[in-house]
Amino acid sequence: TNRTFTMIKPDGVENGHIGAILEKITASGFRIVAMKFTQMTKADAEAFYAVHNERPFFGELVEFMTRGPIVAAILEKENAVADFRTLIGATNPADAAEGTIRALYATSMGENAVHGSDSDENAAIEGAFHFSGREMF
Ligand code: ATP
Repeated sequence: TNRTFTMIKPDGVENGHIGAILEKITASGFRIVAMKFTQMTKADAEAFYAVHNERPFFGELVEFMTRGPIVAAILEKENAVADFRTLIGATNPADAAEGTIRALYATSMGENAVHGSDSDENAAIEGAFHFSGREMF
């Protein structure tokens, strides 16, 4: 068993998809280890997405991720990182497989409803960014 980290991004929250997305996640066999409704500051988003800070969309990404609340969560399942990336689909919803969370709920490449960690190492770093040990079950 291992873990991944996810966020329902501001667009997913604004568009009223929290319930549907969480239902899909739990129905797909992920156990919720930690979860909170929160809003990232500019400093939070710049740190969280530091790996992208040279990319042309960085400013837009920080603006988007801080414009409203998100749902942050740590999820547990065998093969969590890869299976969750499959469940959410491609970054660009136009390329996301049918039935994936992004195919169903994303609006664009930037506003793509959910985040999913891309490695076990990043899952641990990203989970620790949002949660203390006492908030994980
Ligand atoms: P995430 O890390 O959010 O799960 P990802 O791994 O599918 O997404 P990355 O390439 O790591 O995609 O990009 C991180 C995020 O930056 C994307 O989810 C999207 O919100 C935004 N992004 C990526 N590419 C673009 C782009 N060309 N234009 C605007 N925003 C983008």
